[in-house]
Parts: sequence; structure tokens; C-alpha cells
Amino acid sequence: MLARFFRYYRPYRGLFLLDFCCAILAGVLELAFPIAVNQVIDKIMPQNNFRYVLLASLGLLLFYIINTLLQYIVVYYGHKLGVNIETDMRNELFQHLQEQPFEYYDNQKTGKLMSRLTTDLFEISEVAHHGPEDVFITIMTLLGAFILMLQMHVQLALATFALIPLITFALVFFNKKMTTVNTDIYENLGEFNAGVEAAVSGIRVTQSFANEAYEKKRFFRLSELYRQSKIVFYKVMALSSSYNYFMIRLINLFALIFGAYYTIKGELTYGQFVGFILLANVFVRPIEKVNNMIESYPKGIAGFKRLTEELDKKPTIVDRPNAKMVQHLKGDIAYQNVSFAYADHTKVLQDISLTIQAGETVAFVGQSGSGKTTLCNLLPRFYEATEGTITVDGIDIKEMTLASLRHQIGTVQQDVFLFPGTLRENIAYGKLDATEAEIIQAVKLAHLEAVVRQMPQGLETIVGERGVKLSGGQKQRVAIARMFLKNPPILILDEATSALDTETETVIQESLNSLAKGRTTLIIAHRLATIKHATRIIVMSEQGILEQGTHEALMANNGPYRKLYDAQFHEPVTV
Ligand code: ADP
Ligand code: MG
Repeated sequence: MLARFFRYYRPYRGLFLLDFCCAILAGVLELAFPIAVNQVIDKIMPQNNFRYVLLASLGLLLFYIINTLLQYIVVYYGHKLGVNIETDMRNELFQHLQEQPFEYYDNQKTGKLMSRLTTDLFEISEVAHHGPEDVFITIMTLLGAFILMLQMHVQLALATFALIPLITFALVFFNKKMTTVNTDIYENLGEFNAGVEAAVSGIRVTQSFANEAYEKKRFFRLSELYRQSKIVFYKVMALSSSYNYFMIRLINLFALIFGAYYTIKGELTYGQFVGFILLANVFVRPIEKVNNMIESYPKGIAGFKRLTEELDKKPTIVDRPNAKMVQHLKGDIAYQNVSFAYADHTKVLQDISLTIQAGETVAFVGQSGSGKTTLCNLLPRFYEATEGTITVDGIDIKEMTLASLRHQIGTVQQDVFLFPGTLRENIAYGKLDATEAEIIQAVKLAHLEAVVRQMPQGLETIVGERGVKLSGGQKQRVAIARMFLKNPPILILDEATSALDTETETVIQESLNSLAKGRTTLIIAHRLATIKHATRIIVMSEQGILEQGTHEALMANNGPYRKLYDAQFHEPVTV
């Protein structure tokens, strides 16, 4: 894990070296100070010459100036290094998440992913900046101080250092403990954020059921869990910092008592005694610093652990090494013995074989849950067929790059997702570099003109989160306009009009028909009236494909399609 952490320093070698060297130089200069004081007291003071003292002070001033500069470099460039690394990690995680397939998101909570991307990584820059430097400086200062002290007085040095192992042990122990506690905190924070996300995005449902009290209780419970894990953290932190505080004071006390003892015995000069006390102060400083950092270190470490955990979840649907970039597919689609099961192992599709010629409009009908959506989702590889192959123009879709395959397929679904932003931005999502003329053309083709005219700021109107400021039919038309811009040879319309009233449906149907022109189109429809014109209708059930043919042929067949049709159009009148 350590090697993996240091990999992130690679792009910033220069910055790291600068920060590291300056920090070390500052550490060394700190050590020089007690020695200088020792010399001043023992060698210069007895000469009773104030000029020498002034000279020594001038040297000291220079030393302070240099150290101030070093301080600036370490604080500014060190933190810059940390933030750079934090940003890299965050960007890498985002890219990684983008590659995850639908299946991954089926089992994720948005709020939790949000905290992975934000809070989990907040403290990483502190660790990235101070971590290596602090460890090195602490060790170096301890060693340096120890050697200097040994030269002054062996027994005294040993007595003062006797407590160091106890402190080291405690630091390691508490750090481990707090990392565990922090992992819990992040877990609870993730749940908490997921709860907030759900509560906020579901607020309309909550209010319509007047279930505020219930939601409040749920929220308070998550709040409480988070509070408790934080309290545990602070308890460990309090224990750790008090323990170390006491140990550090003991070191000072030891230095004082033993130093005084040996000075009285005449084995130590006054200058050495003062220098010794100062040295003891210098070497406890990095320990104190680590002690103060003990809040952010374990957080950073826990955050990094979660980052690696997430990055290790390899996306299951990826480009093959030699995947082909396809362009301008015609749209000859073939499913060969395709089976599919979701991760929870219930088999949804079993041994489906099916061919669709380029330019055909094929409709899928059948009761809800029979696998129509699933079947269509396999084509853009949103999910991967468990068995069998799917080809387009005779090429296995697994041999194509995901991006190029998906450029060839457009999907319009029942619930349209709109991004927060303007109407224009949402339409242009179908072709990011669309020209004004293209956008206007798409608006026209999707029968959106009247809607745009009606909007207070026209195309620049903000649509609200998920498009709440638009009606269902308007959102649907935005989705269709997107498709006109994207202009894919293969089109999937998954219950695109099912949520609309019949009148709106008729308007949108017109746009959809013109959209489907010249493309291979897979339509899933609930209302059979809308798919009568399809070149072929495929009736699905949980057992697979029941029958297929044109509307007329299927009606004549007197099979399951006829039954569905009659049920929709000759509903028995019940009183
Ligand atoms: P249809 O579109 O014909 O109504 P679907 O393809 O949506 O049917 O669903 C077929 C079956 O697969 C259903 O039983 C449904 O519960 C299940 N299913 C759909 N989506 C998922 C999913 N993301 N994870 C697990 N099971 C799913
Ligand atoms: Mg469906």
C-alpha cells in the first residue's frame, strides 16, 4: 500500500524534493541552535565581551531568516504538493467510476459515492504533504539529538531517551486504532450522505405522503450513528494526545533532573546543561507535531484505503485489447442463443435467437417483467450477455470499442434524465459540438418549437434538477431532439411514450416516426396502437419469444398477441 501511495508523488518529484530538502534543512538548523547557545554560554560569556555576543546574535538572525524562508517553502509548496496529489486521486477515482457498468450502479448509493469523491479524500493532502517529511524529520532529529547528547554526557542521554520507545509504541498503536475508527466514520458518513441524498431527492414523495415525521426519525438515526462514531474517534484521540503529552513532559523532566544532577556533580558545564535542555526540547517537537497531526493522519490513511478499495473494483465491461472502432454501422442485428442473468442470478433471458435487418422497425411487446428492456440493454452493452453472442453487421459487439458501439445506438427511455442546466445544454448533449442551426433543426424535428417559444428564456431556460420544470411530454421531446442530433443508425425506444396521455403521445409519435426513418429501430411499447405499423412485432414472455410477425399476421394467428390486443381494445365494461 505504501508503494502505491508513493506512486502518486511521481509527477511531482521536483516539488517533493524541494519540500523534503527544505524541511530537512530546517530540521538540521533547529538542531544547530542549542549547540550555538551552548557555545555562547561556555565560550563567549566568560570573555565578558559584548561585541562577541552581538556577533553571535547576528549569526542567529541570519539563521532565523533562512529558517523563515524554509518555513514558507515547506508550508506553501508542501501543501501544494499535497493538494495536487489529492486532486489526482479524486480525478482518477472519477474516471474509474465512469467506467463502471450499469450493474455497478444498480447496487450503489449516490450519496455514498459522493463522499468517496469528496470527504474521504479531504485529509489525504495533509498526509501526502507531511507524512514522509515528518517521519524522516522525526527520525533524523531524534538521531541527531541523541548523537549530540551522547557527546555531552552518555548516561544523561540514555536516561532522557529511555521514554522514546514508549512514545513510538503509543504513536503506532493509536494511529492504527484511529485508522480503524476513521474507516467506520467514513462508512457512517457515506450512509449519512446517502440518506441525505435520498431524503432530499425524495422530498416530494415525503411531502405528498405527509411522512415528514418518519423521514425525520430515519435521518436522526443516521445522524446519531455518525455522531457516535465521531465521539469514539475523539475518545481515542484524547487518550492518545494526553498519553503523549505526559510522556513528552516526562522527557523534559528527566532532562532537567538528571541534567541538574550531573551539573551539580561537575560532570556538565552550565552551557552544556542549557544546551541539553534545549536539545531535549528540539527533539520532542517533531513528536509533538505528529501528536497534533494524529487527527488528520488516520483520516488520510483511512481515506486512501477506501480509495484503493474502490479503484480495485475493476469494471466488468471494458474494451478488448484489440477492440475495433466501428463507424457507420448499417444496423443488421443478430442475437444468437443469448442468455442473461442479473447479478442476483435470476435468469431473465434464456437462449434468445433473433435477427433484425437494417432499416427494420421491430416492436417488442409482452407483459411487464418479461425482459424486453433487458434484451435491448444488451445491445449497447449496458449489461453483458451471460451466454451467446450479439452481432451488428456481422461483427460481435464485444469486438467493438464500447464508445464507438454506443455512438451507433441511441436510446430513448420512459424516464428521461435531464442535467441541471439550460434547455440548450440538454439538447446539445446529443452532439456536444452541435451548431446553432443543428440545434434549431433538432428542436423543429422534435416538435419542441412551441415549447421553446413558451419558455421565459427560450433555449436558455434552466430546466431544474432532473428537468422538474418541464412536463413529461416536454422532457420526452428534449430526449428526442437529442437523438436527432446524435443521429445514430440504430434506435431503441423503450416505452418512450408510455407515461404520456394519448394526445401528447400522438404528437410525440409523429416525432418518433420521423426519427425512426432510415434507422434500425427497436421499439418497446405498452400501447399496441402505437406499434401497428412495425415491420415485425415480437411477443415476449418470461419463457422467451412466444411469436413474431406483422400485426395482421399475428392477429390472424389468434395467439398471445391477439389476446393482448383484444384486452386493450375491447376492455370488458365493469360496473
Ligand atoms: P420489461 O422491460 O419487459 O418490463 P425488464 O427487462 O425490465 O422487463 O425486467 C425483466 C426482469 O429482470 C424483471 O423480473 C426485473 O425484476 C429484473 N430486473 C430488471 N432490471 C434489473 C436489475 N437492474 N437488476 C436485477 N434485476 C433486474
Ligand atoms: Mg421495461
